[in-house]
Amino acid sequence: AVPEAPAVPATLVGIEGVSRRFGEVTALDDVSLDIRQGEFFALLGPSGCGKTTLLRILAGFDAPDAGAVTLDGADLLRLPAHRRPVNLMFQSYALFPHMSVAKNIAYGLERERLPRAEIRSRVEEVLATVGLTEQAGRRPQQLSGGQRQRVALARAIVKRPRLLLLDEPLSALDKKVRAEMQLELKRLQHEVGITFVVVTHDQEEAMSLADRIAVMQAGRVQQVDAPVRLYERPATPFVAGFIGANNLFEGTVAGGGLAVPGLGTLPAQGGFAAGAPALLGVRPESVRLGETGILDGLVADVSFYGGVSHIAVRVPGHDRPILVAAPGPTRVRAGAEVRVGWSAADAVLIAR
Ligand code: ATP
Repeated sequence: AVPEAPAVPATLVGIEGVSRRFGEVTALDDVSLDIRQGEFFALLGPSGCGKTTLLRILAGFDAPDAGAVTLDGADLLRLPAHRRPVNLMFQSYALFPHMSVAKNIAYGLERERLPRAEIRSRVEEVLATVGLTEQAGRRPQQLSGGQRQRVALARAIVKRPRLLLLDEPLSALDKKVRAEMQLELKRLQHEVGITFVVVTHDQEEAMSLADRIAVMQAGRVQQVDAPVRLYERPATPFVAGFIGANNLFEGTVAGGGLAVPGLGTLPAQGGFAAGAPALLGVRPESVRLGETGILDGLVADVSFYGGVSHIAVRVPGHDRPILVAAPGPTRVRAGAEVRVGWSAADAVLIAR
């Protein structure tokens, strides 16, 4: 019998061959990807890679020069911004300072002239969802940063959009509040079931929030995958370098791994033909220090971060230190002679 394919949620947004140029700059270069119904999706990439441009096109504030965008299979691009079932939550939150929290949230519904009773019940419901029932009568400036963020979210979801776009939603918050709000955002997305698309340049944030991530560079999509897949099986050198501090080596595929000039054959698994040029990526937590290693080196630096120690090892013939992550404190000191190694199963080969 043919095994049944796992159920994949239906596509909500289809982006097909979208390009956008600003004069000489190609902000988006033939971008195609699908965003699924109900998922938490992230657009991740360095500054200038085109994330915001794509978000603005989905919101209807900009239009592509070429390509198509559909929502539920229907052309989204012919709808003006205000007629799209799409909401954008701005980085600045853009709350009205003279209105109460409840008024700020009700504003969009009042403009749609919904019946008073319905507005009231929807605002109450969403206040409870974001945990601000007690603060309904306050003004935005009487709230903490995290609470203001919740008001902005409440205002974005109260209109029940099909798609909620969030542009660097947590960048204005300090580190501790930010970690809390990450959990909160995830819980909220799950609870309301609206499809979220978040734009961020923060790799950890995208990994912790999203079901799937599109990694972008210079206007192109490099890879779309679940966080763990991106981490374990990066498809391009850029993704390997951008997701997690990977140790990367350049060489040619040889039996059992990658032949690297000056270092010998380093262990890795992968279905590449011998002789093909490739990169080997191995994550810091997969690298071991000890007798059975493959490369001799000198400890250049040790940093202790509480849960983990980072040990940088200089290896003659390799220009960058090899990064080793070991759980907890380590006894290794700078200046020590060590051997580093890893098992073939923990290293990934990437075509170049
Ligand atoms: P950031 O994280 O810095 O916001 P981004 O990945 O969101 O970056 P975009 O804002 O989409 O990148 O910009 C992509 C490229 O297009 C950049 O080189 C940018 O300078 C250029 N660009 C974007 N909007 C315009 C515009 N209105 N006019 C001219 N150039 C633009």
